[in-house]
Amino acid sequence: MNIIIFGPPGAGKGTQAKYLVNKLNNFQVSTGDILREEIKKDTDIGKKIISNMNNGKFVEDDIVNKLLEKIIFDNSKKNRLIFDGYPRTINQAKNLQSLLDDSNQKIDFIFFLNVNKDAIIKRIEKRKILEKRSDDDFETIIKRFDTYMEVTKPVLDYYSKNENFYEVDGSMEIINISQKIEEILNV
Ligand code: AMP
Repeated sequence: MNIIIFGPPGAGKGTQAKYLVNKLNNFQVSTGDILREEIKKDTDIGKKIISNMNNGKFVEDDIVNKLLEKIIFDNSKKNRLIFDGYPRTINQAKNLQSLLDDSNQKIDFIFFLNVNKDAIIKRIEKRKILEKRSDDDFETIIKRFDTYMEVTKPVLDYYSKNENFYEVDGSMEIINISQKIEEILNV
């Protein structure tokens, strides 16, 4: 079963993805984590993306798409993927579809965690203290939310027509969101 967890920054995608990874013994595909790891290891990719990441801007599609390829064609992870933070652009959504087609896979469920801007700002300010992420300061949060509305929202419109698309109220308590998702997955 392949799942996309979709939503604005701070919606709780990572938290729910981790929960499902444990529950289903699947693999989390967090492009944010993968990109942060490139920066930490100071790789060529890391050097290229650091300024975009720290400023709340997206990393170029080509770079992110390339990083995805290896994961999707990894046989041990086949049909056990939980996408968190990808796709974020229409180009990435099309790339994902074509990689899945080429590897004989599909997306089984898309969950949209819907949370409003004020709640997100509060949550990210809390996360800033806990995780010390350099892209969690107030100005960058606003920029990331605006980028989401401008560039990622069209992906939501694209997916919302699918019959396996489910909107979940992301402002609920973490455990209630997980329960709602489990109910839909029937697990
Ligand atoms: P996240 O951990 O998902 O909130 O992502 C943190 C940052 O990583 C984003 O603000 C972007 O700079 C970058 N990033 C993560 N995923 C993507 C993606 N799919 N496309 C472009 N940039 C991404």
